[in-house]
Amino acid sequence: MIENPDNPFFNLNYEPVLENLGDDYYDQVAAAEFPQQILRFRNNELLPLFGLSSEVVSDNHFIEAFGKLKGVRPFLALRYHGYQFGQYNPLLGDGRGFLYGQIQGTDNHLYDFGTKGSGQTPYSRGGDGRLTLKGGVREVLAAEALHSLGVRTSRCLSLIETGEKLWRSDEQSPARSSVMIRVNRSHIRFGTFERLYYLKRPDLIQKLLDHVIDIYYPEIGKYSDRYSLFYGELVKRVAKLAAQWMAAGFCHGVLNTDNMSITGESFDYGPYAFIPTYNPKFVAAYFDDGGRYSYGNQAFISRSNLEMLHLPLMTVIPLSELEESLAKFDYYYRQFYQELILRRLGFDNFMITEGQNLVEKTLEILQETQISYFGFFKTLSQGFNYGWRENSLTILENITLPPADWQGWCMIYHRILNQLPIEMIKTVENCLQVHNPKISLVKETIETVWEAIAYRDDWQPFYNLIKKLQLKE
Ligand code: AMP
Ligand code: MG
Repeated sequence: MIENPDNPFFNLNYEPVLENLGDDYYDQVAAAEFPQQILRFRNNELLPLFGLSSEVVSDNHFIEAFGKLKGVRPFLALRYHGYQFGQYNPLLGDGRGFLYGQIQGTDNHLYDFGTKGSGQTPYSRGGDGRLTLKGGVREVLAAEALHSLGVRTSRCLSLIETGEKLWRSDEQSPARSSVMIRVNRSHIRFGTFERLYYLKRPDLIQKLLDHVIDIYYPEIGKYSDRYSLFYGELVKRVAKLAAQWMAAGFCHGVLNTDNMSITGESFDYGPYAFIPTYNPKFVAAYFDDGGRYSYGNQAFISRSNLEMLHLPLMTVIPLSELEESLAKFDYYYRQFYQELILRRLGFDNFMITEGQNLVEKTLEILQETQISYFGFFKTLSQGFNYGWRENSLTILENITLPPADWQGWCMIYHRILNQLPIEMIKTVENCLQVHNPKISLVKETIETVWEAIAYRDDWQPFYNLIKKLQLKE
């Protein structure tokens, strides 16, 4: 029952695109009813994508559309399986969320509105179907931080506190509850295909693949070898995503195949962390004892997940073609990663010849000294000046640095600056500014924001942080 027909969110043109594929892919579910709805976050930056502006959308509109979900209409809990820490789990699926609706953005791409914390479904496996407020706050922050760092990511449209008490082993309990609306291109996962293979339904795999290509890879739809081209493009997108995580200093934490999107986007932020220092062995999830999803393992794991996908895709695409495409992963990854790190160092990969050398030396020093990963790039971008091109001894000269071969690093940096024509130095300065944020989302930053909320119900530090992450300050 729609209470207010004037609510702009109810008047969006929701398209039943996935629903029209037939009910092999989802179950219709109803949302929970919450005792309370307090809007804690609204992402005004996303509104124009749906033809809306912050002036016409009130807080109450958000609450009505995304906090009072019960009875609005039937929603779709998507069915999927997945490999969790390498073990196949056929009992997954949307256990605390559903597909709220699909909408064409003003950029002509189709977007999913998905919920998190909206109640139990047939896939809740005894779970409460809820999202803790802290979990919601952390996901909002991760998405905004990654977005500002240029990572292709889902983003949160709203976070509403819902007034329930939740019990969690990994959070101070009772914990506060929330419901989130997450926007991304698609909630179809690698695990969505894995489930169909498990059920021995190659017909449904092909049908889903046609849908995925049609909506998310339209540029290859016209080719007769489109299935193979799709996989080649997916390999490229995932390699790029892994490179983006690594350059951003981001450790996703739980790269199970049900958390891998078929569009190659990053999403689902649970126990993630931004690395404090460059340490490939850094582990984000407290339950990841073996370090399977450590920071430095993310490219390898992304590639392994792509390889797992061969099983379902082999029913449609010859294995030799899948293998041929996957073999390019490492090359793509290295290219993208070098390009992204060089940007954080101020350079365009294509303009310089010593890029690889500089990247290797930078990582060597960051690992050896264990100085702040974020801090190093910030210092570089803030300290940069034209004198660095004239005299290598002035590079980072006023900064106290722990012992390491800084001289060797400065020599390379100086040589590269001198390869560029003088008029390009302004471009280096701009590049450093654009690709290095002023604020990092390391654990202490998140905890400080959360403590203000938890102990004083003070949301201002959270809003200030969002503003900074969205580069508005
Ligand atoms: P995640 O770790 O968030 O990727 O979730 C893995 C699986 O567990 C998915 O099927 C989720 O829907 C489900 N799940 C996670 N938390 C809950 C919860 N509190 N209640 C029900 N299902 C959940
Ligand atoms: Mg998940």
